[in-house]
Amino acid sequence: MAKNNPKILPGTPPPDAAQTLLALMHAQSEVARLSEREQLFSSLLESVNAVLWAFDWETRQVLYVSPAFERIFGRPVCRVMADFNVWRDSIYPDDLEFAEQSLAQVLSTGSVEHREYRILNDDGELRWLSDKCYVSQQPGNDRVTIVGIAEDITDKKRLEGELQRLATTDVLTQSSNRRHFFECAKQAFDKAREDGTPLTFLLLDIDDFKNINDSYGHQEGDQVLQRIAHSGRTVLRRGDLFGRIGGEEFAAVFPGCKAKVAEQIAERLQREVQRLSFGQEGQTYSVTVSQGLTGLLDDDDTLNSLYARADAAMYQAKRQGKNQIVQG
Ligand code: GH3
Ligand code: MG
Ligand code: MG
Repeated sequence: MAKNNPKILPGTPPPDAAQTLLALMHAQSEVARLSEREQLFSSLLESVNAVLWAFDWETRQVLYVSPAFERIFGRPVCRVMADFNVWRDSIYPDDLEFAEQSLAQVLSTGSVEHREYRILNDDGELRWLSDKCYVSQQPGNDRVTIVGIAEDITDKKRLEGELQRLATTDVLTQSSNRRHFFECAKQAFDKAREDGTPLTFLLLDIDDFKNINDSYGHQEGDQVLQRIAHSGRTVLRRGDLFGRIGGEEFAAVFPGCKAKVAEQIAERLQREVQRLSFGQEGQTYSVTVSQGLTGLLDDDDTLNSLYARADAAMYQAKRQGKNQIVQG
């Protein structure tokens, strides 16, 4: 057999071996190129604050999660790869039903892009995720794979919450501002109309407030406003609305509350304010308020007509000598 072999010069690989060597070198450079790309993808996936994931719908098997999973969920990647429930059980209980339903929806729609829910990470810290998902079509493969990108939007949510708070709150007294108060009052009014339940509207104006500013200064006046707002909030019941609607004018809405109960609340507030002591030692003073109160009367009533009646009642209290409550 050996004598039929072609003559091979020493050190020269046979032709088929040369081809094998070439193929090997090519494969090695391909491996190096792929490994370089993988490193690039890994570092990209590591630096984005989002988890890329793939999931086999039938077997409920996690096929892939990117490294950010560990940072956002605080749990090892290998655990969720072994058991999908590691992800599912992290979802904040109130949001679980929504998260599951919206994931299932992707099968009929092909993609679900508006999906936000909360998770509790390993430290029990609440995080918000925007988790978009898509059906991935693999040619020649019947298996349904869902792929997705779950972005950590906790900071964005915090900022939105803070902006919402700033837009709705009066900076000085931390009560609802006028716009927000009337928006909420309108909702409460419409609901009371729909349900046929009572609702009362209260207006409160500080007596001789200009004198306080003139005698003790604007800053002292600000403190009076802050403490009266605090008293207002303390006498309110759950579900009542309270806001600063003008300079030294506050308003409240008591949903589901008849005039008699509302009057008791107003009297309590009157006493609370009278009890407050302002100023420095040796030179203290107290403050009084006038209140106008009215309830839903007939079908023609609107929020504006309630406000107008409460306002007229409050001015009557002023005319009658201040420091009192008048029903309108
Ligand atoms: P009345 O008993 O009839 O209600 O008289 P009043 O002095 O309380 O009412 P008036 O409307 O004459 O004065 C209200 C004052 O409230 C005038 C205004 O300078 C002051 N004021 C409005 N907003 C603020 C504020 O944010 N801080 C302070 N310190 N004063 C304010
Ligand atoms: Mg006023
Ligand atoms: Mg006043």
